[in-house]
Amino acid sequence: MAAKATTTIRQSMHYQPEHAAWFAANQVLFNQVAAFYFEVIQAHEKILDLGDQDALSALEKLTHATRKNPHPVMPLSSIGKDIPAMFRRAAIHAALGSARSFSSHLQQWRKRKEKAEAKGKGFHERPPVPPRAWNKSATLYAGMWKERAGSSMVMKVWTGTCWSWVKVRIIGRDLPTDAEIGSPQLIRRGNQWWLHTPVEKQFKSPGKIEKQVTTNAQTRMCAVDLNINEHLAVCTIQTVEGTILATTFIGGGRRISGFRKKQLGRIARNRSKTGIIAEGEQDNADLWRKIRQVDEQVAHLVSARIVQFAQAHQASILVFEHLGNLKPEKGKYSRRGNNKRAYWMKGRIFNYAKYKAWHIGVITSRVNPANTSRECHRCHSLVIRYDAGERAEGYTPGASLVRCSHCWMQGHADRNASLVIGQRLIARYQTPLKEKPYAPVRRAGREEKSSGVALSQEAKSKSRPSTDLAGYGESNEHGTAQDGLLRMDERLSDIPCQLRLPFE
Ligand SMILES: [Zn+2]
Repeated sequence: MAAKATTTIRQSMHYQPEHAAWFAANQVLFNQVAAFYFEVIQAHEKILDLGDQDALSALEKLTHATRKNPHPVMPLSSIGKDIPAMFRRAAIHAALGSARSFSSHLQQWRKRKEKAEAKGKGFHERPPVPPRAWNKSATLYAGMWKERAGSSMVMKVWTGTCWSWVKVRIIGRDLPTDAEIGSPQLIRRGNQWWLHTPVEKQFKSPGKIEKQVTTNAQTRMCAVDLNINEHLAVCTIQTVEGTILATTFIGGGRRISGFRKKQLGRIARNRSKTGIIAEGEQDNADLWRKIRQVDEQVAHLVSARIVQFAQAHQASILVFEHLGNLKPEKGKYSRRGNNKRAYWMKGRIFNYAKYKAWHIGVITSRVNPANTSRECHRCHSLVIRYDAGERAEGYTPGASLVRCSHCWMQGHADRNASLVIGQRLIARYQTPLKEKPYAPVRRAGREEKSSGVALSQEAKSKSRPSTDLAGYGESNEHGTAQDGLLRMDERLSDIPCQLRLPFE
């Protein structure tokens, strides 16, 4: 079975200074043609019922003069003469995309309106509006470019007065040789023009998780526990039969949190000065941008590290837990904001990791998050959680160590959680009691009780709790004879764990 993954190769271009104006003129014309076709589609709505190929033919018939069709209804020549066919077609596709999106939004709006009116309710939502300004990048279909070598390419552009072939030098990452090259786009970023080329890579698609897990006991999984404390991600590699092979702690959480808190504190102070609360407020806009950029970069760094670790240990499955609801925090503005952003970042890390993993043939899954931190990865009893230097008793959320009073497992709390997360995925396919599909409960306006307050009482007693989370992977028992932080044969990853954060 083959699967596909599309990436975009971004390359900057070297060109003569006057060519920048040509690329700009080319883009203006491209958008004029796209806007023109958008209008044509609005005037002939039935076109949207057609597939892209038929829609293209229909639109050309309406607009393009040929010997057979000398007087089209809405001639494109009103916009410009001698527009190359492939330039026209690229613009038609851009227009079709926008028109389809606009039409589906409009339909949804009409449905909501009908529904409200049927119930006799007022409906005040404004209808979606067609794009007011067109600012799409020009796509160069085959025929509009040629002689693409490693470091140069020739392309046909509208200079503002005529069509001309321009040779540009290309800088940056080479195109892969084993992938299918799509139509490049001319992209403006600031004053610089770039070439973005989509490439489609075919690879052997990873087997379904169920098949991997049930047919090969040596299948390796990388399980990830995402945190909002120092260890943004704790990853463990274990096989289906339960051998633990490696652990890595991806740190930097405290620094990112400190950085964010500082910025949020500044924002709060600015607000109290001006009395205005608005994310887009000019004074604070820069601070918000800074926070967003750093969050984005950290999510990319962490997700890349996770996937790198999985790949280094030949894991073919990546496992996360579902995020659950954002628990509202009490306290200062900066604390609440920081928590919210840390929570969002977890979602981003998951999405980016999933995407990056897919590109190397690793499949991603998520499991039910209930009690992953409270369960012993070895015997599945409830654990005691405490900080180093404190008495090992009770359950202190966020503390760094765990101990199981049933099997005497002890170790790092986040590593334990990561192992439990991995085991849940296996348990899904091994036990008759299948894991329940995860559905977060939304309780608006009320703080959600963290999911184990009652259980932690039982964890204090030395006996095996009655609410033992049995049923998760009985077959794991034989392979997990480790104690302490790491097993003898378990390697700490040689991938550096400390991230160089972008603001440092
Ligand atoms: Zn235990």
